[in-house]
Amino acid sequence: MIGVLRIGHRPYRDKRITTHVALVARAFGAQAIWIDCADDRIEANINRVTRKFGGDFKIKSGVEWKEFIHKWKRNSGTVVHLTMYGMPLDKMSSKLKKEKDLLLVVGAEKVPHELYRLADYNLSVSNQPHSEIAALAICLDRLTGGKWIDKEFGGKIKIISSEREKIVKDMGRSG
Ligand code: SAM
Repeated sequence: MIGVLRIGHRPYRDKRITTHVALVARAFGAQAIWIDCADDRIEANINRVTRKFGGDFKIKSGVEWKEFIHKWKRNSGTVVHLTMYGMPLDKMSSKLKKEKDLLLVVGAEKVPHELYRLADYNLSVSNQPHSEIAALAICLDRLTGGKWIDKEFGGKIKIISSEREKIVKDMGRSG
């Protein structure tokens, strides 16, 4: 499984970015996101999307990040910190694809230096500064081998691709 850990979330400043990190995680093949700072509104937003558009994506906020990383490693999971200072994604992706449980850690403004040491891998998606949303999207695309494209979410509604219209199909699923 692939999980995402978002650290440094500040509810007032990062609401939109962290929501987008979670949406990207869900759409491109992660199964869960954990957020360090408690934020009920983000949890509610993402759960609403999942109820409507399907899948079994899990979200939990208010997680103590260091303890969470230690637990992940104790359970034989691999921790990958996304940072522009890390090793290139292209060099590392074939090795990482073989790992069973991957935790992708993304920061907000500045991450504690300790994370560089705690992570099994520090991974860069180019050595240029950009965004946790972009870094996560590209990373998930590579690590899933682009499989997100065929994923069926089984939601209550389904968007049908169209050149000119908005086509939304009611799948008649309750719950
Ligand atoms: N300046 C901050 C620092 O040095 O920690 C980074 C801020 S950046 C807006 C927020 C997050 O985006 C980072 O913690 C990292 O997870 C991710 N990120 C930004 N650029 C990246 C890159 N080139 N490769 C991988 N991740 C990146």
